[in-house]
Amino acid sequence: MQAKLDMPAILAALRHVLPAGLERVALHEPEFQGQEWSYLKDCLDTGYVSTVGRYVDRFEDQLVQVTGARHAVAVVNGTAALHAALRLVGVGAGDEVLLPALTFVATANAVAYCNAIPHFVDSEARTLGVDPRKLEAYLRDVSELRGEVCINRRTGRPVRALIVVHAFGHPVDIDPLAEICGRFRLVMIEDAAQSLGSLYKGRHAGTFARLAALSFNGNKIVTTGGGGAILTHDSALAERAKHITTTSRVPHPWRYAHDELGYNYRMPNINAALGCAQLERLESFVERKRNLHSHYRQAFAEVNGVRVFTEPEYARSNYWLNVLLLEPELAAYREELLEFTHGNGILTRPAWALLHRLPMYSRCPCMDLATAEDLESRMINLPSSAFLHAR
Ligand SMILES: *Cc1c(COP(=O)(O)O)cnc(C)c1O
Repeated sequence: MQAKLDMPAILAALRHVLPAGLERVALHEPEFQGQEWSYLKDCLDTGYVSTVGRYVDRFEDQLVQVTGARHAVAVVNGTAALHAALRLVGVGAGDEVLLPALTFVATANAVAYCNAIPHFVDSEARTLGVDPRKLEAYLRDVSELRGEVCINRRTGRPVRALIVVHAFGHPVDIDPLAEICGRFRLVMIEDAAQSLGSLYKGRHAGTFARLAALSFNGNKIVTTGGGGAILTHDSALAERAKHITTTSRVPHPWRYAHDELGYNYRMPNINAALGCAQLERLESFVERKRNLHSHYRQAFAEVNGVRVFTEPEYARSNYWLNVLLLEPELAAYREELLEFTHGNGILTRPAWALLHRLPMYSRCPCMDLATAEDLESRMINLPSSAFLHAR
């Protein structure tokens, strides 16, 4: 007999976890129960809504406090943070940048904005992030060092960097990846857009690479409406990050002089004000989302054919989005499950379409992507807003 997915049991598990009486449960909703109104009113009352005002500095200081990074530079969104980070480490036209195929499109877009070429690598089921063993074997096979530069022997192009992504907030296994980057002379950049509040071996995600990008889009764990930040321990890089994201203006009381190509990526004060209030609530968000995860985990333990993804032993995940994995032989039921849950007002989502399958990236170099393809085919995200934790 062919295995079949037990839809009623899945719905019962979801209903058991989710608060009763909600007609429609969104995937992720922001929550404004702190000082948001008060800080925003302050911006309006004082007129400081845009490029001047004290909330940007304050937000950056709070980010430093929360993450343990030495510097934080607030910008307009996470994509801009990634773009600036790549520019800052010298990624340019004709360079290749390694990144997982299983990530949000922005990770690859930032590479393309530098006229560089995304080069897709596989993920592993244990972390949902880049598979270090497979990456190393692949690099040994296709690359060689010429001087201090890693060259893709198949294309002749330099491979400059690896962007690691903490997918759905779950920390990737950083240590072996950092080691590989060292050996192959790749700059590591962390796309920590989803992982504010997550820890790897007790240290905050986004503090391991030379540069990391955060996002404060409306669907992330902390929102500024739209926003992002660059994290780094390196003071010189932080200064450069601030400079190129604020039009590379040379400081002067009135003169407009700009000493290199810059970007208008500055975060407005009004967005930073919202972010200050939101960051004050981060621990509460993480705690409740972790609680929600353990409810999901318990409820689905009894359901055949599915499994809730749980953080690797080295991590404390923020559980930005919970992941439900169907057994491989049940992958064909994913669409039906999405339809069924939506029909019942529970707005689950599939993973992102794999980036090597998107038209603009379909001709980019990639390694064998069997695990990413397998994971994508049988994964859905469950509603994960912090307020859902209270049954
Ligand atoms: C959200 C996100 C981004 C981009 O952030 P924006 O603020 O939306 O520009 C980049 N990478 C990942 C993995 C994301 O989830």
